[in-house]
Amino acid sequence: MCGIFGIYGHPEASNHTYLGLYALQHRGQESAGIVSSDGIRLHHFRQMGLVSEIFTRETLKRLPGRSAIGHVRYSTAGESDLKNAQPFVVNYSRGALAIAHNGNLTNASLIRNRLESGGSIFQSSMDTEVIVHLIAHAQGKTLIERTIEALSQVDGAYSLLFLTEVEMVAARDPLGFRPLVLGTYKGSPVVASETCAFDLIGARFEREIEPGEILLINEKGMKSFKPFPRRRLHQCIFEFIYFARPDSFIFRHNVYEVRRSLGVRLSKESAVKVDMVIPVPDSGLPATLGFAAQSGLPLELGLIRNHYVGRTFIEPEERIRHFGVKIKLNPVKELLAGRRIAIVDDSIVRATTSRKIVKMLRNAGAKEVHVRISSPPITDPCFFGIDTPRKSELIASSYQVEEIRRFIHATSLCYLSLDGLRECVKGEEENFCYACFTGDYPAFSDG
Ligand code: AMP
Repeated sequence: MCGIFGIYGHPEASNHTYLGLYALQHRGQESAGIVSSDGIRLHHFRQMGLVSEIFTRETLKRLPGRSAIGHVRYSTAGESDLKNAQPFVVNYSRGALAIAHNGNLTNASLIRNRLESGGSIFQSSMDTEVIVHLIAHAQGKTLIERTIEALSQVDGAYSLLFLTEVEMVAARDPLGFRPLVLGTYKGSPVVASETCAFDLIGARFEREIEPGEILLINEKGMKSFKPFPRRRLHQCIFEFIYFARPDSFIFRHNVYEVRRSLGVRLSKESAVKVDMVIPVPDSGLPATLGFAAQSGLPLELGLIRNHYVGRTFIEPEERIRHFGVKIKLNPVKELLAGRRIAIVDDSIVRATTSRKIVKMLRNAGAKEVHVRISSPPITDPCFFGIDTPRKSELIASSYQVEEIRRFIHATSLCYLSLDGLRECVKGEEENFCYACFTGDYPAFSDG
């Protein structure tokens, strides 16, 4: 789970990359980095933390040049480590190369073992580094030839940006797991994970980079390559459910509209007689709006979110009940006392959040708490770039809906059906990956 941004041929390249990353912050909060090119060499700055904390006017001044790429990285279950921060930069026989990656390669360790036994030395534990080594080892004369050679050996999910002293390359895997969009800003090409990054800098959205497309950008302009055989697409449906920003346009849809339609469909599937519908802020809000509109029920903001929650806070020694969730959410007691309510959230992963929220709402006086989830039960981990826990930690991998309802103490619990989810992307439902709900993973050459 990461966000990437790049701009080619603009005098304030790193400043705009900073802003692009700022708009993509929701895609990763662990670390951020920018690499710029002044045409002769690459300059880079990476650090742990949020974009706004890491970069200052001074650090951005140390990233000169007319081209830049940037990356925000999601905090995964593993170690947060600066050496795993991106963009990743190497110097090899043909010069310098920086890479920013969103996604997850499924055959990285296989390739890494092969390369290591051939003498390659890796600097990080990132799957992304494999691509760099493959490019360095490739026979092709040009960057694009070497990129094609390298990418034809990797499987899995990748939306990528490369930067050399003089060229930028954008690439999206043939199955199209992660989004990648192309725009222009004052005549300069810009590339980003989501269009919300273009909106902030005032760039114009041109089109999505196609699955399997590799785009070479240099002083001569832009050239598109489609070197891979066409495959059935596997765009990540979870981008629509939870991950992407609602104001973005990705996978040929506006995220907000899809998310709202999930709520409409959920309401049709699991109507409930209550006094009001309450969103779990913020990710549950668009679906709740759809749910309320369809059901005709009043929508109330019964849970208020503190938007200023940092990553660490000091808990008093005398433990406060449900402190973790209270830090982020607080119920409006006056609204809830004696009322029957339905809450709508986008997903249940381990079910710790919904359990705490139901308890909090009951403590605030709610008489009935019906839980509605705008996605099907998550039964299987994602191997394509969404951070999910192991299968055993996914509550729906081992428990039925009724058991989960009891665990979270809800009056009733309903998930959106898989058919209902597919209905919301009707006409293109075959172009999406639903593996986290089905365990039906796409097959690659090495199985
Ligand atoms: P859980 O408490 O583990 O069931 O988490 C469910 C909550 O986490 C929901 O409110 C979701 O909005 C949110 N969520 C879903 N997927 C993810 C993810 N991959 N990373 C972080 N939060 C998530």
